[in-house]
Amino acid sequence: MSANFTSLKELLSQPIQITITTHQKPDGDAMGSSLALYNYLIQFHHRVKVIVPTEFPKYFNWMPGVDEILIYPNSKIEADEWIQSSDLICCLDFNTISRIHPMDEIVKIAQKPILLIDHHLQPDSFQWMFHDIAACSTCELIYRFIHELDEHPSISELTAQCIYTGILTDTGNFQNGATNRNAFLIVADLLSKGLNIQYIQEQLNQSSTESKLRFLGNALLNKLTVRKDLGIAFIVVDKKDAKTYNLQAGDTEGLVNYPLSIQEINISVLIKEEREITKLSFRSKGDINVNDFARTHFEGGGHKNAAGGKSIFPPDWLIKKITELIEKDKKKNK
Ligand code: 5GP
Ligand code: MN
Repeated sequence: MSANFTSLKELLSQPIQITITTHQKPDGDAMGSSLALYNYLIQFHHRVKVIVPTEFPKYFNWMPGVDEILIYPNSKIEADEWIQSSDLICCLDFNTISRIHPMDEIVKIAQKPILLIDHHLQPDSFQWMFHDIAACSTCELIYRFIHELDEHPSISELTAQCIYTGILTDTGNFQNGATNRNAFLIVADLLSKGLNIQYIQEQLNQSSTESKLRFLGNALLNKLTVRKDLGIAFIVVDKKDAKTYNLQAGDTEGLVNYPLSIQEINISVLIKEEREITKLSFRSKGDINVNDFARTHFEGGGHKNAAGGKSIFPPDWLIKKITELIEKDKKKNK
């Protein structure tokens, strides 16, 4: 462990109070990394709470420790008290504090030591940073962090399930550009800790609903715009879809990946109308950098091939705007 981490190791050498938090609308890596660290740390009698800034999808309800999670808007008083009396705040799977809105205020006010564990591009600065953009997932970093703390750590089957969830989901089932050697090496080790891959597959990929499948069918049939001339495709999910298909947190997860299966499409954009803003998801192939695009134009960011952003404008306007930007870029590069 580097000198920088010696003080952190010292802090963790006796039971302390810890807050673990992760980004809004937690995905598999956010949930997996938070609960993996939770399940690991409670073994040492630390007082640990995972507090998430917004609701998480119901399909994570099977995860070990999930019942103990506080959802910030539903438990604000308890969460604020916990954060203010914590000795350490662990920020997982995000690179900038605005990603935990509406929890960002209290975290700033509390002025507690922060440990960031993350793999997104261009992170803000925090007291301790366990950060690597080459990591396939924050769960890979949790596995590595645990080994930094202890050369031969005790990783339970429950912790293994959480780490596997993040690696599986962030690598798109070991298929996207984030997939690296560590993903396979770590999973091989997790299998020796009792990990049951079939069980996780049933929980994550075989426990959906009929209405979610029909929503997917409708989105691909009726809500997809393909611009092969520009190599870009859009899918719009509006408020009407949310009502018709009774969409719940996480129900659009993965949808943005489908258009990339078309040979000529290199950028896919999911435009989702929410109550007050429009949320954007970008995915790209190869060298196309959607992190830069989301950062420059849509107050967002993420990874080279997977990024998000937001806008106050409606979907139609955004399709026009993004199309213009891509056309301009094409002309410039001619
Ligand atoms: P998704 O499209 O699945 O919501 O997000 C893709 C990636 O970009 C994820 O790694 C996510 O954490 C990141 N991301 C999504 N939205 C934002 C945003 O508004 N700001 C930043 N900095 N990152 C985002
Ligand atoms: Mn991640």
